Amino acid sequence: MPDSNHIIIAGAGLAGLTAAYDLQQQGFTTTILEASDSIGGRVKTIRQPFDNGLYAEAGAMAITSADTALLGLLKKLDLNLISLKQRIDNARYRAANQWHDINEPCSARILPDNLKQCSVSGLLRHYIDAARLEHLKPDTNCFNLNDELLALDELSLADFLRREGASECEIYLIANFSSAALLGDGIEHLSALQYLMRCGHKRDVDNFFAVENGNDNIITCLLQQLDSAPLTETPLIKVTQTKDGICAQAKTAEGEIIEIEGAALLCTLPLPVLKQVEFTPELNSDKSAVIAELADSYTSVSRVYFQCSPAHRQQGLKSAQSVIDRPSMIIEDHTNHLSDISMDVLEIHTIGDPARAVANMTLDEQVEKGSLILEEILPGITADKKTGIAVCWDKQPFHHGAYLSFRPGGMKHLPVLARPENNIYFAGEHVSMLPGSLEGAVRSANEAVSRLIADITS
Ligand SMILES: Cc1cc2nc3c(=O)[nH]c(=O)nc-3n(C[C@H](O)[C@H](O)[C@H](O)COP(=O)(O)OP(=O)(O)OC[C@H]3O[C@@H](n4cnc5c(N)ncnc54)[C@H](O)[C@@H]3O)c2cc1C
Repeated sequence: MPDSNHIIIAGAGLAGLTAAYDLQQQGFTTTILEASDSIGGRVKTIRQPFDNGLYAEAGAMAITSADTALLGLLKKLDLNLISLKQRIDNARYRAANQWHDINEPCSARILPDNLKQCSVSGLLRHYIDAARLEHLKPDTNCFNLNDELLALDELSLADFLRREGASECEIYLIANFSSAALLGDGIEHLSALQYLMRCGHKRDVDNFFAVENGNDNIITCLLQQLDSAPLTETPLIKVTQTKDGICAQAKTAEGEIIEIEGAALLCTLPLPVLKQVEFTPELNSDKSAVIAELADSYTSVSRVYFQCSPAHRQQGLKSAQSVIDRPSMIIEDHTNHLSDISMDVLEIHTIGDPARAVANMTLDEQVEKGSLILEEILPGITADKKTGIAVCWDKQPFHHGAYLSFRPGGMKHLPVLARPENNIYFAGEHVSMLPGSLEGAVRSANEAVSRLIADITS
């Protein structure tokens, strides 16, 4: 008979480790199963092959001042934050070979005269009414979607903007040059509700942060707090619900099948992987259908990094994040918060369909292609190909995609996705009103643990 105080956790990303930490605080013991040989999942800082202690984020980069659950956790872990304020102050975009400040009037040739005085971010603000955002703040993950929210979910962000009176010309600008250009497969394919929830969450944001010396320090510090280390290279493959609890089967690196028993399972696996796990008895059919449908809604992201000289700061690129006139592509400057550097790390960040196309290339080919694009955008930059490195989230065997972006009509499935099945509980960024964020991962873990403890102790 399994120990009623022992919980099995699948996945050692931020949600899994936060859940383990919360459970330990409440007197539970855990076994954490992790498929990869490393811990942290989509919190991944790369330090090799860069020189002089430089690093870049391959997963989550920015934390906002609205991320209260995450900031609370970081405070408990005593982690120092650095400010990335440049991201909001100086964001730039390049159109028709010219650099523009995101807050300056648009001078793009495609705009009719009456719109040239609008900025790209101003266009978005104009159509997204601040008063409406007040009650779209996802304060909890209770997933109570009323009729108004369900109606917003059925719309794409582009259709929402059309409904609010935006012209096709404005939609083109927003789709290609605003922060919305960085989400999912573009604004025609993104649930309006997801975007508005995100805006509601960030409504009062006055600063962006990252953890000093790399976001992977969140993972290192969480691990230091845990009594037992995750079992790496041990993917969960089968879950059997027994009369008294759960029996989880996992495969070790040596090919051995091990069985672990617990009172409950808390599962944080990304949906494209979760759909491959065998459940006995099977999950309810509505749950399986939702997992299968949403598993196809993951955003593709490919990132290619180069160590190069900071001379580009004299050119057009002055901000941490610049939208460029290449479809679904931005340049990230990973050292923008540092003022005095001799070397810099620049990244070509590709999203959506163009990232899916890149996934068919070898990593070397991605580096080659990235260096050509960088040279074209910043002539004379001479990206150092020896220190070029590519990370393609579609190719990560335990993710098969970067993060969930709800398509129109997708968020209505959240109550089913989050619903526990007997003693199996679900968490992770995808079980959240703020998908694709650290805050969503932490909130989902906090809430799954509260539910689990309430059920077990009732
Ligand atoms: C490119 C990119 C940029 C991002 N930028 C930001 C940002 O700027 N700000 C922000 O807040 N968020 C950002 N995010 C999102 C953030 O990183 C994620 O939301 C968060 O890290 C997800 O945590 P998680 O625990 O839900 O999932 P994960 O971290 O993916 O954890 C799941 C774990 O499960 C493991 N696993 C998979 N299969 C199995 C199996 N069968 N058995 C056991 N384990 C398994 C995986 O290896 C992984 O470790 C970004 C993400 C990406 C990919």
